[in-house]
Amino acid sequence: MIDTQYTSSFVNRDKRLVIGNWKMNGSMKANAALLADLIEGFKRQAASGTVGVCVPFPYLVQVSDALNNTPISWGAQDVSAQEKGAYTGEVSASMLAEFQSTWVLVGHSERRAMHGETAELVAEKAVAAAKSGLTPVFCVGETLAEREAGQVQAVIAAQLAPLFAVGAELVARTVIAYEPVWAIGTGKTASPEEAQEVHAFIRQALPATAKQVPLLYGGSVKADNAATLFAMDDIDGGLIGGASLVANDFLTIARA
Ligand code: PEP
Repeated sequence: MIDTQYTSSFVNRDKRLVIGNWKMNGSMKANAALLADLIEGFKRQAASGTVGVCVPFPYLVQVSDALNNTPISWGAQDVSAQEKGAYTGEVSASMLAEFQSTWVLVGHSERRAMHGETAELVAEKAVAAAKSGLTPVFCVGETLAEREAGQVQAVIAAQLAPLFAVGAELVARTVIAYEPVWAIGTGKTASPEEAQEVHAFIRQALPATAKQVPLLYGGSVKADNAATLFAMDDIDGGLIGGASLVANDFLTIARA
């Protein structure tokens, strides 16, 4: 039985949202240079939307120190579904909250594929995050084989079902990121129309009281394709992998 005592806020799409996913990249030195460039860049380019970066756990201290009092928020790329205890190697949501994290990715396709995360576990992680005041960025997306078999909607619906089953109160505190697996890190981007079609499907499936949650697109978003993707009706921003490691590219995407 999932308990629903959330401390995170409701999120809505009235502001555009761009989140960087550093994946397992970085070093203290490289991060310092990237963060300095981003901070400088956002001084010149007032952010009209919300911008965040999701970084490897060990860099949360560095990132929270550097980004404190800047327009850039931060978070992590995974979280345990458990509150505490004998879960070696796991990191709890309350630990992430101690570093003023705003975001945490849950169910990234790399974790579903390489770490066997099930749809149910991903929903439990979203619950844990929201209970500690974090906003879960709930990732969904189909493989190429599933797309070719005409199963896109069925796959996305199955990935979202355990989240929706927890209740609209949780969904309204969640950001959903559509990331087709075949587009992640491959240089192949869904066309704006393909992405919009899935986003519209997700939007209509949302509970009535959570229709305004931001829907992000992710998968090889670059400086030169972000604007056309973000112009689509139901695409409220992006989850950016590789391009979030290059300050100028990330700034251009945030501007889009
Ligand atoms: C991601 O890892 O979430 C992602 C979207 O990666 P990329 O932008 O590199 O495709």
